[in-house]
Amino acid sequence: MSERSHILAAGDIAFAYSPDEKVLNDVDFAADAGRLICILGPNGSGKTTLLRCLLGQLKVDSGSVLLDSSPLKSYSPRRLARMMAYVPQFPTSAFAFVVREIVLLGRYAHTGVMGLAGEEDHAVADEAMKMTETLAFARRTLAELSGGEAQRVMIARALAQQPKVLLLDEPTSHLDVKNQLAIYRMMVRLAHDWPMAVVCVGHDINLAGRFADEIVLMRNGRVIAQGRPGEVIRTDLLKDTYDVEVELIDTGGNVPMVVAH
Ligand code: ADP
Repeated sequence: MSERSHILAAGDIAFAYSPDEKVLNDVDFAADAGRLICILGPNGSGKTTLLRCLLGQLKVDSGSVLLDSSPLKSYSPRRLARMMAYVPQFPTSAFAFVVREIVLLGRYAHTGVMGLAGEEDHAVADEAMKMTETLAFARRTLAELSGGEAQRVMIARALAQQPKVLLLDEPTSHLDVKNQLAIYRMMVRLAHDWPMAVVCVGHDINLAGRFADEIVLMRNGRVIAQGRPGEVIRTDLLKDTYDVEVELIDTGGNVPMVVAH
């Protein structure tokens, strides 16, 4: 795998929280603009840890993480925030802030020394809120929103950074099926139309199979497979990943539906 040509590439990375227990091992990963990549795997397989290494929140013990062909560690926090944005699994404690203020927080890497939001910052925030359909409640606080609406606000905040890479940790985990679909469709639009590289950790194999351009399967801190859904959604690979028997059902789409037993 050539690491140079990808917007984000991890080569042979290893990471341990404590010296005797490696959480990531020999992990190769690549993301390109214009693609939605879903990382799947059982709980504890290292998905969040991988995201945090890709973000530079955790420093890898060995291997490399290259963002736009430069090592992650060569980026200042400000430059990094203009390139890569993160939507964490649990919304921040910004409940008391109104939506517009939260989205404007995403402008911190772009605003001037005084950190005051100018006309352009408000215009970018408006665009991010339009994209995520959150403009209608721009004056409400996060505490006054449903889970799906709050998640879209967190995505709007990330978009206000105008990143080239967007990483999301289980963005649909507490959402009903309609909101899950809305988030997946939004991720596809962002990946294909913006375009940016969108990397999402998830648990729904069927949603990932339907919407992702690529799927990464992880188990025990290793990447078992990365490829197009049709290449990765296979009974043997899914059994290796999740340790369950799976059945693939042809529903007439590009990718079969997965039923686990
Ligand atoms: P996933 O996102 O796939 O559920 P994680 O990356 O959260 O997996 O966790 C992978 C492993 O690392 C688990 O065994 C977990 O207990 C451990 N782990 C996660 N975060 C920490 C931490 N802050 N300190 C120590 N161990 C951690």
